[in-house]
Amino acid sequence: MPFVLSPDRLEAARAFAATFQPGQRVCLTTHVNPDGDGLGSEAGLAHLLKARGVDVVVTNPTATPPRFDFLFEDLPGLDKTREAVKELRRADRIVVLDIADLGRLGMLGETVRSRGVPVACIDHHVGTGVLPEGPRYLDSDAAATGELVFELAVANGWPVDQAVARGLYVAILTDTGGFRFSNTRPRTLRVAAELLETGVDPEEIYLEVYARAPEGRPRLFAEALQTLVVEPDHGLAWVTVPPGAIERLGVSSDDLDGVVEFPRSIEGVRMALLFREVSQGRVKVSLRSIGPVDVAAFAKQFGGGGHTKAAGLALAGSLGEVQATVLAAARDYLGGDGRNP
Ligand code: 5GP
Ligand code: MN
Repeated sequence: MPFVLSPDRLEAARAFAATFQPGQRVCLTTHVNPDGDGLGSEAGLAHLLKARGVDVVVTNPTATPPRFDFLFEDLPGLDKTREAVKELRRADRIVVLDIADLGRLGMLGETVRSRGVPVACIDHHVGTGVLPEGPRYLDSDAAATGELVFELAVANGWPVDQAVARGLYVAILTDTGGFRFSNTRPRTLRVAAELLETGVDPEEIYLEVYARAPEGRPRLFAEALQTLVVEPDHGLAWVTVPPGAIERLGVSSDDLDGVVEFPRSIEGVRMALLFREVSQGRVKVSLRSIGPVDVAAFAKQFGGGGHTKAAGLALAGSLGEVQATVLAAARDYLGGDGRNP
């Protein structure tokens, strides 16, 4: 079966695209600590909009991790993250990718909220948060926001060349954990196949994204994995980043990508967690699940969110305090008898 769009998605994608005009100044932005999906979707959409005469820049709340710099190599000067606030103040419209909540835009949230220009959104997270008015293209069944950008291109007859495809392939590759997670639908692989048809080299992309890590990354993994705690009775396992380890090893929080898969990989574990102090008195928790446990719903009670099987939250408090609170809630959530209520 080829890749097809249902009539209502086709209409939604065309209505969304019709709001972009040549000559418009458009800022693309994504969530704090941008990942392969946010950045790959931005790079893909930037190429698509540039080809339509739109004056597009990328303005993210935090810096692009070095392993994703290659996405912007053929878009010189387009990543204006360092001057994000200034750029947002000049924009005719803003497009928020891979999140639908001002609270995840970090220091840019207030500027985006108060700008008074349309704020478009392309996203695949469960449930929506608060964003100013603007066109939406949403689908929580999509594996990645990159899949939705591909739909926009196809629905509007925008040519997907190799440059566009590279960004969208990175988006899908990273958000599906290399096509392993449950969000990998037949449709996802059809999109990936069409992207490869453009001549994108999957090994080259694999090497850029996963095989150019600093030495500190495996050392950080080693330190984090040393902290592993497993509670077989609850189906819980967690690891903690030793405070200061990221700075000491000269790496960034992006280098933690994948570490939570280790507690998740243990037989009998149904919820895996990664705890990390992001600043004095603020702790970020990454959540992953196996089976029917819904970690997005769990995260929501603490103001977090994400997807059914991959979610996150951030809480005020010391590492010890946040661990105690979240783990107690997790034990409760999973139920002493080992079943999710
Ligand atoms: P990660 O744990 O890899 O940072 O994030 C997993 C998923 O949860 C991603 O889809 C991410 O957008 C979402 N997520 C992570 N942290 C938060 C958070 O603090 N709030 C919300 N709403 N979503 C989060
Ligand atoms: Mn995503």
